[in-house]
Amino acid sequence: MTATVTALALISAASLHAQAATPPAPAAPRPQSVADTSVFAPLVLPTASDQRAGSGAPGARYWQNRADYTLAATLDTTAKTVRGEMTLRYTNHSPDTLTYIWLQVEQNAFRDKSLNSYIFPQDSRFGARGFEGGYQFSRLEQSLPTAKGAPKKVALTKRVNETMMKVNLAEPLAPGRTATIEAAWSFAVPEHGADRMGRDGALYEIAQWFPRAAVYDDVRGWNIEPYLGQGEFYLDYGDYNVSVTVPAGYIVAATGALQNPRDVLTPTVIARHAIAAKSDTVVRLITAEELASGAARPKKTGMLTWKFAAKNVRDAVWAASPEFQWDASSWKGIMAYGYYRPSAASNWKDAADQSRMSIMEYSERWFMYPWPHISAVEGPISGMEYPMIAMENKSQDVYDLYNVVTHEIGHMWFPMIVGSNERVYMWQDEGFNTFINTFSEGRRYPEKGDQMARAAEERRMVEQYITAAADKPVNMNPDRIDPRLLGEASYVKPSVGLQLLRQEILGPEAFDDAFRTYVKRWAYKHPTPTDFFRTMEDAAGRRLDWFWREWFIENSRFDQSIDTVMVQQAGDTMNVAVRFGNRERGVLPIRARFTFADGSSEDVVYPAEVWSTNSRRYTRTYKFAKKTLVRVELDPDHRLLDIDRRNNSWGSPPTRP
Ligand SMILES: [Zn+2]
Repeated sequence: MTATVTALALISAASLHAQAATPPAPAAPRPQSVADTSVFAPLVLPTASDQRAGSGAPGARYWQNRADYTLAATLDTTAKTVRGEMTLRYTNHSPDTLTYIWLQVEQNAFRDKSLNSYIFPQDSRFGARGFEGGYQFSRLEQSLPTAKGAPKKVALTKRVNETMMKVNLAEPLAPGRTATIEAAWSFAVPEHGADRMGRDGALYEIAQWFPRAAVYDDVRGWNIEPYLGQGEFYLDYGDYNVSVTVPAGYIVAATGALQNPRDVLTPTVIARHAIAAKSDTVVRLITAEELASGAARPKKTGMLTWKFAAKNVRDAVWAASPEFQWDASSWKGIMAYGYYRPSAASNWKDAADQSRMSIMEYSERWFMYPWPHISAVEGPISGMEYPMIAMENKSQDVYDLYNVVTHEIGHMWFPMIVGSNERVYMWQDEGFNTFINTFSEGRRYPEKGDQMARAAEERRMVEQYITAAADKPVNMNPDRIDPRLLGEASYVKPSVGLQLLRQEILGPEAFDDAFRTYVKRWAYKHPTPTDFFRTMEDAAGRRLDWFWREWFIENSRFDQSIDTVMVQQAGDTMNVAVRFGNRERGVLPIRARFTFADGSSEDVVYPAEVWSTNSRRYTRTYKFAKKTLVRVELDPDHRLLDIDRRNNSWGSPPTRP
């Protein structure tokens, strides 16, 4: 690559000389002009609009629609089915009149012959398992107000397309108006709901359980991407009232605050809960012994209805088991719960405290947690987040458990607070979350490495992927990525990108200011990658076209080198010229260590922009008085990425007699 560039430069220099020596030749065809293909070229982003400002903030006319739900679920533990009923109030804040709405009917992914079942093997994490599930609707109608008395109910026509359902409205929904949709349905609960929901013995984890309104936004209209398994959820905000009817022996965890504790909890549990609400240590609300003796429940037979309410969330889920031990602690009035079965107790007895610490860490550093509780729920799901709920399975190791708990709880910030489009831009929640997790993990268990050490571990992994040319561009639709590469592409690589921005490019003060600005600007809204890029530049004060391009848009490689070191002694001063090289497309800052014969050393750091006029070579001269330079080394502390470190040094370390 370098050789080709040099050769072209020599050819054009030679022809220039030739032209100077001879009369002008007849107009020869000029070389084909090309666009600015430098990594530093301005990044072409969508034009700013009234909805999305050039600063990266929501525009003066930003809008998003709203979906408020009243939901009722009944769990039949004999038939292993859920029956559901819903009133959805869908409010159109867009400037467009809508004649239909799209609802997500994602139980359909879990049935035999679904698109999901053709894409993923049955025994894989995201695979459906040849199961006669899916939505069975018994009612779908719109409730229209009438001049006098009761609203008119009109049956709605629908067209189901795998996991998406188009519902034709009874009358057009004008801007500013609300449509009220009512539905009733049932589905058989899959044992393995692609690791998003499911059941294990008597335990149920119920998500994707009601027809959820898809997002209609200013960027893409209706977001009609199907649920295939990897791409998660993109949903509008709303208020939820959820009632869950289960056998009386069951304990229910759910999105939202419990509205009727006296109906479903014993006075003892209610009293302990009041203590936990003021306690920074874990209070056992329901113990294994109380479950075994029956003392845990106010009623032993029949059914009980648990009622929950949640404000400004993008989904609501629940989990229920007759074996849930229930722990609680709190931080600043926010309840931190752990729900787990006796078989998981050895590590899960710490889960409520792990939840509390996670809420505290992310609230203190980035944005205050806005909801009344966070619940870590043990069950068959290996790790999945929903508003106020983090589902994890049991773990052999308390460190592993914390990594999963704090990861799923980190999702309360991305995407539950900052509501990006997970199905298309997975990195905007998984990557940002993985990044904030490094702080939480380092804080909880510093003996396993502080934040910088954890970030270094992630960097090493990404370096290996890039070296092996196995990495994918970060800004790639997750449903197009091989599941084996998803962890690097959508989680670790974007996390490492933020770490590089923070430590090596912007500095922690400017990065934290900008990242907090992003969270604050887009809390409860729908930012795109462009809104993130622009906000970071606008708030941090640095143009970063090159970094967004090389790290998020393309999958650039990185290889800096020490190309030449020239040394000249003048009296007791050593004059040194170093030509730093950059042999791949990606650019990063230069970090070099100069080591002297006496064992002392000096570090120099140059910003990545030094490559902007010549992305291949950068030369600097130095004067060292009364010192003998013996070695120059690039990135000695491995703070950057480099696919070939064999060309990173000149000279030898000083030898000691
Ligand atoms: Zn995640």
